[in-house]
Amino acid sequence: MRLLHGRPLAERLGARSRERSDALRGRGIDPTLAAVSVGIDPAANTYLQRLVRSGKALGISVRDVSLNRDASEQTVMAELDRASRDRSLHGVLLLTPLPGKLDEGHLVDHIAPGKDVEGVNPYNVGLLLDGRPRFVPSTAEAIVELLKFYETPLAGVDVVVVGRSTVVGRPAAALLLNEDATVTIAHKRTADTAALTRRAAVIVVAVGRAGFLTGAMITPGATVIDAGINMTPAGIAGDVDADSVASVAGALSPVPGGVGTVTTALLLRNVLTAAETQLAGG
Ligand code: NAP
Repeated sequence: MRLLHGRPLAERLGARSRERSDALRGRGIDPTLAAVSVGIDPAANTYLQRLVRSGKALGISVRDVSLNRDASEQTVMAELDRASRDRSLHGVLLLTPLPGKLDEGHLVDHIAPGKDVEGVNPYNVGLLLDGRPRFVPSTAEAIVELLKFYETPLAGVDVVVVGRSTVVGRPAAALLLNEDATVTIAHKRTADTAALTRRAAVIVVAVGRAGFLTGAMITPGATVIDAGINMTPAGIAGDVDADSVASVAGALSPVPGGVGTVTTALLLRNVLTAAETQLAGG
């Protein structure tokens, strides 16, 4: 069984990004991402630190815009509007999860589509569904880029995506459809998820439950992409029961070290794309 490590792809993406950020800096542009957070969520904070670190290595600045935990929806919207107008900021990211009653669905409308590097504004969601993706949620893109990096055939291939969240399952399914895969999406109301996954050559799991996909649920030789990140007493675990799946699968992305390793690199790459487009007047 082959392990689909994310690091070689992240390094390749990073090297290209370094060149692009150097070129932008040569033209007087400091590519900058505004990371807007509300309150201090430990997971969001860890992610922010990772972004700042990776950004530094690539010559991309990450500006921490922290709002108070009890900030109103209007305050967050105003901050996203402000960042969207600020010409010194090229990308805008709203860190989640959000506290209290804040409705992410309303807020993302206030990230300008041209700066929406995580692809959550409905305009970018629409472009993806229209088959011409621009900015796409980075985890979903990481899933598909990992499959392509390891030259996994997708056209005409039966792929099952387990999970339909707006940040992972849905956009991953849309990207896979754009690769001409025959895509089935399973969710909580799916009658028999195992019957579907057993028929698939490629399975993407994004359910948020450690050990969800077992070896008994897949066909021998299948490629399995594990998007899960679950905190367990034994440490970080994916949504795949790695022991049983490894004895049946042909390839598996590890957790940690698979999809998660690639997401930051893709998000930061999108900041450069946004900066280049803005420089060109787009
Ligand atoms: P989410 O919003 O909770 O969505 C989970 C999805 O799984 C839902 O669509 C749910 O179905 C489905 N599901 C849950 N139990 C199921 C079951 N028994 N059978 C079939 N489907 C089931 O989670 P998410 O944000 O998509 O995250 C999924 C996983 O990816 C988590 O482990 C998360 O930590 C991880 N993640 C990783 C990254 C990364 O960078 N690698 C980024 C984001 C998230 P319903 O829609 O019917 O409820």
